[in-house]
Amino acid sequence: MMKSLKPLLLSLLLSPLLSQANPKPFNEQLAYQLTESLTTEVGPRLAGSPGDRASVAWATKNLQALGFDKVWTEEFVTPYWQRGQARLEILSPYPQALVLTALGGSVGTPANGIDASIVMFDSLEALIAAKPEQVKDKIVFINKAMTKDKSGSQYGKVVGARAKGAVEAARLGAKALIIRSVGTSSNRFAHTGKMTYDPAVPKIPAVAISAPDAQQLARVLTKAPEAKIKLQLDTHQTEDAVSHNVIGEITGSERPDEIVLIGAHLDSWDQGTGALDDGAGVGLVMATAALIKQQGQPKRTIRVVLFGNEEGGLVGARAYAAKHAKELDKHVLASESDFGAGRIWQFSTKFGPKSLPFAAEIQRELTPLQIKPGNNDAFGGPDVSVLKALGVPVVSLEQDGSDYFDYHHTPNDTLDKIDPAALQQNLQAWIRMTSAVANSTVDFRQ
Ligand SMILES: [Zn+2]
Repeated sequence: MMKSLKPLLLSLLLSPLLSQANPKPFNEQLAYQLTESLTTEVGPRLAGSPGDRASVAWATKNLQALGFDKVWTEEFVTPYWQRGQARLEILSPYPQALVLTALGGSVGTPANGIDASIVMFDSLEALIAAKPEQVKDKIVFINKAMTKDKSGSQYGKVVGARAKGAVEAARLGAKALIIRSVGTSSNRFAHTGKMTYDPAVPKIPAVAISAPDAQQLARVLTKAPEAKIKLQLDTHQTEDAVSHNVIGEITGSERPDEIVLIGAHLDSWDQGTGALDDGAGVGLVMATAALIKQQGQPKRTIRVVLFGNEEGGLVGARAYAAKHAKELDKHVLASESDFGAGRIWQFSTKFGPKSLPFAAEIQRELTPLQIKPGNNDAFGGPDVSVLKALGVPVVSLEQDGSDYFDYHHTPNDTLDKIDPAALQQNLQAWIRMTSAVANSTVDFRQ
């Protein structure tokens, strides 16, 4: 297992690329090695931060070292939000501090904080249905738990409170928003994530508390509905930071203008080192293209896109779609790895009906890896969904996300949560799928 970037670069540079006559066995650990390198040598990579810039340099250097035919960056302008100090304490009747984190994009409080009583709701919908006199001048607390599942389908049921809770609370006159963390961990840390404002509604501070703290606060409010709380939050945002998408290509031997896009996002939240979200995806797609090239040039071009600022609202993905608007019809397929590092258990497509027989061909390659056929309504991945909305066909290699939301957007998203054997299975699936598509002539659109 490599311990730093230098040995990786050296080993790649010192081992000559394979000749067809003497193919080198796959380095089955390459995805893990790249993920280890990124999360150790760069660590957190919040969009617009010094870590973000370091990750762009890391990706450029490693794509070049891996033998990609073309490597370049594409600049875009992005907000740069920074978390400062945060403190939340129950003032009365049971004085104690609670564990919290600011939600991404939140404004801060005045320096001496906000003191108020609390009104608790069990969902965003219940808040929306409330009357202004219930909420005015209070701090709103949305206490909705998330349950575990393999496919991540529960995330959509709770994430609305994080994304839109501050707007709905402010509309009714609230002073701040507290949510129970969007996540499935019972540990005492809070899950961050992007929140949004509406220009027509006052901006109020928004924070998440850990699941045990949410349970504690609910107990306090049951015993003492008049409880008083104090929130102090310090955040900063600039609107005009610069970031980059990083792109590497393996040029197609027969159809170089036809692009098979495989992607992941290079940015991460600041609390952990972004190993599951999305260091593993970055390692997987870089390794996939590099290892396919080792076996010989594919017929179509394989383009690895490492998107910037996914977490802040798909900022890099939108910049990519705008810049490449005229060649989107040359993107024959797109797919993204951005759901951690669990084993892939299902393969789904979003193809035109005439190319579905080819989906069955890819599936035959994946079945030995214990991957089942899914449906023809694939998501494709968050960044890639922007391309999908513009008509680009997508596939999803769906990972087992049963534990993903234990770590998602927390300080606990670190390399030790990745099982190298599961990541190897992912790599094999990505190589088989990408190679099949890049060596075919199938039009997935019709
Ligand atoms: Zn992600």
